[in-house]
Amino acid sequence: MKKIGFIGLGNMGLPMSRNLLLANFTVYGMDLSKEAEMSFHQAGGTIGLPVEKMVELCDVILTSLPSSNAVEKVFLGEKGLVNLAEPGILLIDTSTVTPELNHRIEKAARHKGVDFLAAPVSGGVIGAKNRTLTFMVGGAKSAFDKAMPVFNAMGENIFHVNENIDSGTNTKLINNLLIGFYTAGVSEALHLAKHSNLDLDRLFEMLNVSYGQSRIYERNYKSFIADDHFEPGFSLKLLLKDLGFALDLAKKNNVELPVSKILFDLYEEAEKSGYGEKDMSVLYKKISGQTTTFS
Ligand code: NAD
Repeated sequence: MKKIGFIGLGNMGLPMSRNLLLANFTVYGMDLSKEAEMSFHQAGGTIGLPVEKMVELCDVILTSLPSSNAVEKVFLGEKGLVNLAEPGILLIDTSTVTPELNHRIEKAARHKGVDFLAAPVSGGVIGAKNRTLTFMVGGAKSAFDKAMPVFNAMGENIFHVNENIDSGTNTKLINNLLIGFYTAGVSEALHLAKHSNLDLDRLFEMLNVSYGQSRIYERNYKSFIADDHFEPGFSLKLLLKDLGFALDLAKKNNVELPVSKILFDLYEEAEKSGYGEKDMSVLYKKISGQTTTFS
């Protein structure tokens, strides 16, 4: 497995594909954005290969795309990966999409005799850069075993959840539901702290060694709020997407999640107010009533 195609070279895909290059894979990249393709090219990757050629040349094709629509188009479109793929190739989607889409891609891929894994990731852009991502993988164990060298080149904690194609996605949606809670909790807590005459740096120092500590508090405060810098990262609109998928999952399973519903509405309102493209930690600004003007 030496030749890899990578579609979607954004905040996550670019550093992940760079790590594949560092691990001596030959990587062919593709993105709708020319700027993203240029950054990948500057890192040593090859661009300009059409999908038809990519499926012919590559052993594995990975995707890191921003929405279910994009993933559906790239995999199931007329000129999509599944249609063009031949048996022997392994397709891996690392995006967070609906469990239902995982099933549709798996069904179409199986029909063509092509292996497919749904392998969402956690750990953020920092994890993608530092090769410390967690992979939550659903699909055939035999395909997972084949893909291990590729996962190991991009991440640190690689889990095969089980053979159900949506098992990694369901795990990831629960993870991101918690991220939604933590981010809202940090936002409200820091808003209150600021109005209670507390210094936020000093607060972090103390709470970071108390039960109020969390990885999201550390991430959101140290990398974004403390510097008043909100370039993503993980954009608020992507978190909103995942919260919507988590609520759909709850509905499908007849599970009531009353607080999660409020949480979704909060993020949806922030997105409508113009915060969607910023890092999710910007919810602090929305909650504390600060403007949407960013430097
Ligand atoms: P992003 O928007 O930064 O990158 C997505 C890239 O895909 C963009 O460069 C875009 O131009 C490209 N793209 C869109 N449609 C395309 C198409 N049809 N063909 C080729 N390229 C296309 O998003 P991201 O933050 O890198 O996230 C990617 C996925 O990873 C999402 O599903 C997200 O939920 C998930 N994720 C993100 C993070 C994070 O911290 N950013 C963490 C874990 C998981």
